[in-house]
Amino acid sequence: MSVTLLYDGIRAGDRSLLAKAITLAESTLEADRKTTEELLKKLLPHTGKSLRVGITGVPGVGKSTFIEVLGELVTGEGKKVGVLAIDPSSQKTKGSILGDKTRMERLSRNPNVFIRPTPTGLALGGVSWHTRETILLCEAAGFNVILIETVGVGQSETYVRSMVDFFLLLMLAGAGDELQGIKKGIMEMADGVAITKADGENLKASKQAMADAQGALHLQSAQASGWTPKVLAISALGNKGIADIWKMVLEYQEHTQSTGYFEENRKLQKKQWLEESLENYFKEFMNGVSFQSKKEQITKEVMNDTLLPSDAARELWNSLVERK
Ligand code: GDP
Repeated sequence: MSVTLLYDGIRAGDRSLLAKAITLAESTLEADRKTTEELLKKLLPHTGKSLRVGITGVPGVGKSTFIEVLGELVTGEGKKVGVLAIDPSSQKTKGSILGDKTRMERLSRNPNVFIRPTPTGLALGGVSWHTRETILLCEAAGFNVILIETVGVGQSETYVRSMVDFFLLLMLAGAGDELQGIKKGIMEMADGVAITKADGENLKASKQAMADAQGALHLQSAQASGWTPKVLAISALGNKGIADIWKMVLEYQEHTQSTGYFEENRKLQKKQWLEESLENYFKEFMNGVSFQSKKEQITKEVMNDTLLPSDAARELWNSLVERK
């Protein structure tokens, strides 16, 4: 597929060509990488204009139900919403917690919404790389709000944090931290916390959960953004508190744009992307067959005293540097 065709289609907001471009970006074939790079380069002036929001929480916390209601609210304001999902479990099971078709059914029929599940079979570093590219592609296609959803386990939320403007943590009322699988440190990443399912019998517990979360946030040191994270209780099924969440996100945007943090953070994220990409190249090379077999052979020499470990390391390093 030609770069011009994809470029024109994406700029015209054509969702099927956008989907094709994302598939191309997910490909590891050399030719596809080249096309993707060329396309992204051309699209670059049209990127960066969306509000990027990360949403995390354990399975069952209510992410998809929340996104469905939030997506309707935001599209109701005349915006176009992209929903991307990063699901680390999908690599192991090949079945994705986030990717199943029954999720966000209403939203997927909305013409102003584009939903894209996790690419399968990529290492987490690769997932993050491709998600970043997917964000740019969606932005160039005119999506003003990008929601990036991830299951709050493992390392994926750290990746998501490094590619969004606002990071929202969804928590269940009445379940202890351990039950929720909330890792130490995840609270520190949050710009906002939503206690989900604050309805019916859960209402009382959600008040306690709000107080607990507020207490935990209170103990944290100030955020670099100068923003004080807020805790809100929501009910996606009862459509309660969703508008408040959106208001909070917009307030955050306004606040950080006025202080200059918003732009500064975007710049740092680009730097981080570069560093991650570089690391990926190293890892790819280190795990490659030719490097591994050379290393194996050299290790034997080291163990048999025919080569000094430091000389062996230099030899291996040189083979890396000389690589074209
Ligand atoms: P996810 O795995 O985090 O995406 O969670 P889901 O959105 O699939 O929700 C998990 C379950 O919680 C479903 O059975 C939902 O119907 C239910 N649920 C989601 N939001 C609410 C809510 O606001 N109130 C109540 N009572 N249940 C909810």
